[in-house]
Amino acid sequence: MNPVSYLRAGDTGEALSHLGDGARFIAGGTNLLDLMKEFVMRPSALVDINALPLDYIAQTAQGGLLLGATARNADTAYHPLVRERYPLLTAAILAGASPQIRNMASNGGNLLQRTRCIYFYDVAVPCNKRQPGSGCSAIGGLTRQHAILGASEHCIATHPSDMCVALAALDAVVHVRSAGGERQIAFSDFHRLPDDHPELDTTLLPGELITYIELPRATQFAGHSYYLKLRDRASYAFALVSVAAALDIGDDGMVREARVALGGVAHKPWRMPSAEALLVGQPANAGNFARVADALLAGARGQGENNFKPAMASKAIVRALELAAAGTYDNTGSERDGSD
Ligand code: SF4
Repeated sequence: MNPVSYLRAGDTGEALSHLGDGARFIAGGTNLLDLMKEFVMRPSALVDINALPLDYIAQTAQGGLLLGATARNADTAYHPLVRERYPLLTAAILAGASPQIRNMASNGGNLLQRTRCIYFYDVAVPCNKRQPGSGCSAIGGLTRQHAILGASEHCIATHPSDMCVALAALDAVVHVRSAGGERQIAFSDFHRLPDDHPELDTTLLPGELITYIELPRATQFAGHSYYLKLRDRASYAFALVSVAAALDIGDDGMVREARVALGGVAHKPWRMPSAEALLVGQPANAGNFARVADALLAGARGQGENNFKPAMASKAIVRALELAAAGTYDNTGSERDGSD
């Protein structure tokens, strides 16, 4: 047992004032509490932020949406404006976890969830992410879930979120606050590649609290988006490969704008605007989608057990873009607590 203190903060200022050394914010706790039970994370204090007024979903004057950090994943996925304007986000959230976890997990926490690399959770073996400098047990080990892009000699883990793959494709912006003020982080800059500091998952600085996620207006994609998730079982499993695809297609059948983000392949959602640009002004067909896949996966390399992933990802990209081009359909399930 590790002693841990608990404080329920009444407002943001109070929450920030208690985020001293070793303290962690907690909202849904769906990942943090698991990590504490396994002794992977050992915070000295938990600062509960559930009483903060951050559980909103609100429109912006420009037609975008603000997703409060403590709003629950399920409430976000089923919000009428999210379903109407960002069906890609609804589909991605509902592809993740289980209904019970989605009911509890917060939006801010989703961004901060840790890798599901099995060695990260096993405190008996080396892991550079858990204990910097100790080594990486995954290299040469069990790598079915691991990265094929952006890995380093220090860590080959993947980011596990589905929601974040859609947020990357939608050009979300993360708003954070600290005692020193507020700042915004483009979603593409929020998560980081492991490089030689795999212990750092994000660019969030010590003392910063995620307050909300901003979705810019993106109605041009609402009719043509798709979240494709390939995994070992149909529910409650992390992606081997996932694709968030969104297209803006003109009346002439030509692509005006494209977004493609990958999950399950890297330490962060994988996106490459130069690959998306290959589709602009082109017909939305399989040949052009394959060119995007080739560009997105340039340099992809298996780690042994996951050598199947580059080919799987290539086919998944083409299939997701084909389904997006065919028109968004309601792949979100009709029941709030229906099967995952
Ligand atoms: Fe740890 Fe990363 Fe290696 Fe997994 S891949 S054992 S998280 S360093």
